[in-house]
Amino acid sequence: MTLLKPTAAQIDAVLTGGRPICAFLHDLDALNRHARDIAGSLPPRVELFYAVKANNDSRILGTLAPHVAGFEVASSGEILKVREAVGADARIIMGGPARTREDIELVLAQGVERLHVESLHALRLVNAVAMQAGAVLPILLRVNLAGPVPGATLTMGGAATQFGIAQPDIPEALKLLRDCPALRFEGFHFHTVSNNRDAAGHAALCAMELGLARSWATEHGLDLAVVNLGGGWGVDYGDPDWRFDVDGFARAFAPHVGEDIRLQFECGRILTAYHAAYVCEILDLKFVHGRTFALLRGGTHHFRLPSSWGHNHPFLILPRDAWPHPWPRPECRDINLTLAGELCTPKDVLARNVPVERARIGDLACFLMAGAYGWDISHHDFLCHPHPQHVYLGAYEHANPRVFSTGSTSFS
Ligand SMILES: *Cc1c(COP(=O)(O)O)cnc(C)c1O
Repeated sequence: MTLLKPTAAQIDAVLTGGRPICAFLHDLDALNRHARDIAGSLPPRVELFYAVKANNDSRILGTLAPHVAGFEVASSGEILKVREAVGADARIIMGGPARTREDIELVLAQGVERLHVESLHALRLVNAVAMQAGAVLPILLRVNLAGPVPGATLTMGGAATQFGIAQPDIPEALKLLRDCPALRFEGFHFHTVSNNRDAAGHAALCAMELGLARSWATEHGLDLAVVNLGGGWGVDYGDPDWRFDVDGFARAFAPHVGEDIRLQFECGRILTAYHAAYVCEILDLKFVHGRTFALLRGGTHHFRLPSSWGHNHPFLILPRDAWPHPWPRPECRDINLTLAGELCTPKDVLARNVPVERARIGDLACFLMAGAYGWDISHHDFLCHPHPQHVYLGAYEHANPRVFSTGSTSFS
């Protein structure tokens, strides 16, 4: 499996403008191959959707489109992004904890194929809006599991969170559905954990959820057409070369795939994490209260993931020889370096006390695995610094020329 790991020379070759470097680089060719490989390792009758919230860049959506079954969205804005980037034929499914009448109207107007409903009030609201429109909307009930769920970085279910319908309330939701003629119940939705690195454990969790769905259907005499088992296939920010065992997961899960039910996954992170890098020039170095800091052109307003998760994001220091000033070039060697951004807050730190052989003003800090939940989750305009450049590498062409107007250099 591949990882975007550019050199300073490659970065200098694709970035222009003469200002200090601050950019996201995306390798669309490698992303294209990666998505093809992951989608190709799933058993037949299993559909892989892309969870748009991980990265909603139109070029990323267009690159993934040929390989995924469709797109999982969580807002009206994401519906429109998919329609604009991929077109009217793209399959869209929608979830998310807080729904408005306007969302549901757009779901109907834009031909979203299924809505994942997360509360009893939402069931009534969706039914009322669909009824008014004279439509029948296919839905899944999203379940928040009763039991605690082991291991993963984020937990959405099996815990006190705002997601899904609490498992003990599922019978009541099924009863309520009988009074919702504008809704067509098709099955259940589970998205219980994010960033699970244990493929066997994840397969066991999914098998358990599928078993629950089957037993509810039997108990309540329902046709079970679809079970969506969410995303959550992990990456390891502590080890960029580690990969979730997709083949092992698929093998462990295969015995649970029947002819009767359509199974869906909706993954974000594992699809888009690896083929983007966030590159920041080192603007200054300083030694304060026993700690060495590199100050970057950029920071958590572009790439909030490491502060959100409280981790040291993996990075490389890429040396650059040019030094334009008449005074000696500051550098540090064999130190533990803290990489801080340009914001006026001590929270603007992307990695703390990480051993580094050498770093100089003018070198580049290149953060790897920056493609998922990076730019998209960040507070871009806090302090009004210039936004990063977004550079797309790869000769990948797409049918929609509005979207793919750039990109010819390849890194791989
Ligand atoms: C975020 C999210 C996903 C994708 O999760 P990953 O951990 O990025 O794979 C899938 N489904 C739902 C409902 C989500 O909220």
